[in-house]
Amino acid sequence: MEYGQFFDDAILRLKGERRYRVFAELERDAVTYPVARWHRSEEQAEDVVIWCSNDYLCMGAHPQVIAAMSDAATKHGVGAGGTRNISGTNHPLVQLEAELASLHDKPSALVFTSGWISNLAAISTVADLLPNCLILSDELNHNSMIEGIRRSKAQRKIFRHNDLAHLEELLAAAEPDQPKLIVFESLYSMNGDIAPIAAIADLADRYNAMTYMDEVHAVGLYGEHGGGIGERDGVMNRIDIIEGTLAKGFGTLGGYIAASESIIDAVRSYAPSFIFTTALPPAVAAAAHAAVRLLKDGKERRAQHQRQSMLTKHALSAAGLPVMHNSSHIVPVFVGDAELCKTATDMLLERHGIYIQPINYPTVPKGTERLRITPSPLHTDTHIVHLVESMVDVWESLKLPFVQDPKIVAFRREKEAEKEEARCTFPDFKKAAE
Ligand SMILES: *Cc1c(COP(=O)(O)O)cnc(C)c1O
Repeated sequence: MEYGQFFDDAILRLKGERRYRVFAELERDAVTYPVARWHRSEEQAEDVVIWCSNDYLCMGAHPQVIAAMSDAATKHGVGAGGTRNISGTNHPLVQLEAELASLHDKPSALVFTSGWISNLAAISTVADLLPNCLILSDELNHNSMIEGIRRSKAQRKIFRHNDLAHLEELLAAAEPDQPKLIVFESLYSMNGDIAPIAAIADLADRYNAMTYMDEVHAVGLYGEHGGGIGERDGVMNRIDIIEGTLAKGFGTLGGYIAASESIIDAVRSYAPSFIFTTALPPAVAAAAHAAVRLLKDGKERRAQHQRQSMLTKHALSAAGLPVMHNSSHIVPVFVGDAELCKTATDMLLERHGIYIQPINYPTVPKGTERLRITPSPLHTDTHIVHLVESMVDVWESLKLPFVQDPKIVAFRREKEAEKEEARCTFPDFKKAAE
């Protein structure tokens, strides 16, 4: 038996399908963010602009969040010391949970070591505690939710993405007194589209179902206090369990659920992936707490984030790049081919100092490969101009299709003429960022 061969073959299969992933070695810089160092090779490092981070609001580099972490580390040390049961329930963690419960206007909250674990733990535990539970799951739900569903013994049905009629059909087909759990996301991060939360809650009321909503891509970013789309739409109280991450909008690490006291207590008491793993370190909890608190008053940061996202979308669209439209901060640009998607991002990195990770299967369906751009409040207008010019160059070099709108074609011709005249008047983004 040649064991090694099996692993080599497994890797070759991925390479054959153009699914083999290569990680760029980046060195984030808390001062110059979103400009970072890219370690091109062992000897060579250069500046790049990060355009695909999920640290959407740059809270991971916020001076007060950094200070909260280093102060807490000095005060409490760097480890948690055990599971939540065995000395892991630290004071900063309890304070963080109180803050998160208040953020979502729920009686209670529970923090996990990641958002992925929080979905796995909460969905499987809730579904298994309900006798003969039926889970209704949106077809575009994140892998962590699918893993939670798989882990439970519950029956499951998938409804077409954001399709209320299909969801109702499945609800109506079930036994009226069978316990039901509707599982969905508020904001789907690969398309950037938003769920009809109130209408889903209406259906849940009508068919007596529980609701579980993943707000991972919205917490910190939407709503008066950063409570997410649920807060923005005034529907938080209509959702039984709200799940979020501390690793994206809040810039640190960890995940959580917010719900009634009895649901939180049940998950705390029954979920193995909560019980048998070491708790988040107090310093991480303190940093996350600082980020949540800062963003409760973060209206300006949220507005600047939206502004830079909209500006990026408009500028790319005006240049004829195939932006996939949506009403959120996510800027997906369609490529539709795994190989070209990878080549385009390599070219952006190597030629233009722009870091965007290609989004390929299985993250999105085959034939819908794309670039997923996430502008932040710290991306300047100059960064955006540089992005657009670079993307146009890559699209032209790879002969990728531009949008054939006559207005856009005319605009691009004008731009071409300007370029001819001025011969590269484009300002150096590194200088401009200083
Ligand atoms: C990233 C993500 C998660 C997992 O969160 P982590 O804190 O990164 O583990 C959960 N749900 C969705 C929709 C996500 O995109």
